[in-house]
Order: sequence, then structure tokens, then C-alpha cells
Amino acid sequence: MQARVLGVRVDCLDMKAALDRIEQLVDAGGHHLIATVNPEFIMRARRDREFARVLESADLCLADGTGVVWAARRQGCSMTGPVTGTDLIPPLAELCAARGFRLFLLGAAPGVAAELASRLRAEHPQLEVAAHPGSPDPSSDGEAMALIRAHRTQVLLVAFGAPKQELWIDRVKDSLDPAVGIGVGGAFDYLTGRVQRAPAWMRRAGLEWLFRLFHQPWRARRMAVLPVYAFKVLSAGK
Ligand code: UDP
Repeated sequence: MQARVLGVRVDCLDMKAALDRIEQLVDAGGHHLIATVNPEFIMRARRDREFARVLESADLCLADGTGVVWAARRQGCSMTGPVTGTDLIPPLAELCAARGFRLFLLGAAPGVAAELASRLRAEHPQLEVAAHPGSPDPSSDGEAMALIRAHRTQVLLVAFGAPKQELWIDRVKDSLDPAVGIGVGGAFDYLTGRVQRAPAWMRRAGLEWLFRLFHQPWRARRMAVLPVYAFKVLSAGK
């Protein structure tokens, strides 16, 4: 089942179902984009037609955050909770190790993706994983794409933040070998402990935004759209 939240498609999938779909997409071959959609994505897509087009072209739009799950449930979706990039990576790495899917981590500050790759390799010695900080700037595409190709990447995680990561995947995908590209935002920073994540009880209560605002006050401007998002979802009815 799919919901449409203020015009943006959201696939009503739990973690297990999302992993099954990713496995099917890798097995099917071809180029695929997966977005982890949060309320900021949805508000951005309303004023950024290019971002809206790229989200519409995605093979999967996972509900990243309680705000999107809440809106999707109002339309009858029955997922148990959000599927965030940060929560997706550990079981996805396990899947890649089990199925021999070759994983590439692109993005974040220098050293972060490499550290996460080492951690994942330590947990899954058979996992074929490579990493590169890269940059969303087109002048860096050549180097990143050469490394992604050389690794024979099948699952590509891109951590440039939204919308840069989705636009980057869309821009380069046809020049890459078949792969599933997933935008994961700040997931590498969380998984390497560089940025602290809200405690589970706050995430369950839908208060992650409050934690992030306290620890990263520079986010306030981006998060100012959240009350508008809630108001628009409520005014849109079901
Ligand atoms: N980032 C990057 N290159 C850029 C801009 C951002 O690698 O030009 C990385 C940044 O280091 C961080 C991630 O992209 O790891 C964005 O994290 P953020 O939490 O801001 O993303 P969100 O989940 O909010 O989209």
C-alpha cells in the first residue's frame, strides 16, 4: 500500500518488508533510487519541482520519522513505525553480507564512511564494503564514480543530506553499473557516534525533533517547517 502525503508518495513498509523489497530490487538488476522521506523532504518537494520529480521517480519512498508515519496512518497505512536510514543500515549490511551484495558508503566528513565500513566489516567479515567521502559537487563525480564502479557496487548508500543525495543519485545513476542507491542523510554520523541520537523513548514519542533542536540548534531554520507540515496534513483531511 502507498500513501500520498501532501503530494509525496510514501510506501507503507516496515523494516522487514523494506529489506525484502531492497533485496528484490538488487536481484532484479537495473538502477533504483530509494528515498527515506521525512517531513522536511515533503515540505521541500512542495517548492522544489526537481526534487519532487526525483522523489516521484524513486522505486521506494520509506517513511523516515514519526511525522510521516502519522500522516500515512491517517490514510490507512498500518506500518508499526518509521524506517530511518540509521536503522536500515545495520540489517541491510547483514543482508548484503548474507547475499554477497557489494556495498558502498559515499558521503559524510572525511574518515566517517571509512570508519563505518570498518565497523561493518568487523561485524560481517564476509561483507564487501568500500567507502569514500565524496561530495555532491559535480567536479567530484568522476573520482567517486570510478571508485563505485571499481568496487562493482550493488548497494550504494549516499550521505550528502537531502535533497543533495537524491539529486546526486538521479544525476549519476545512468553512468553507473546497475545498483540500488539509497539516500541516508546523517546516518553515518549517528552510526559512528559522531552525532548523538535521541534516546529510544524520545523517538517512540515522536520527540526526536526536540532532541535534535537542542543538540543542533542550527537546524532550527530547517525545522521551522514542521508545524506548517502538521497543519497542512491536518487540513488536507485523510
Ligand atoms: N554532507 C556531505 N557533503 C555535503 C553536505 C553534507 O557529505 O556537501 C554530509 C554531512 O557530513 C552529513 C550528511 O551529509 O553526514 C547530512 O546529514 P544531515 O543530518 O544534515 O542530513 P539529513 O538527515 O538532515 O538530511
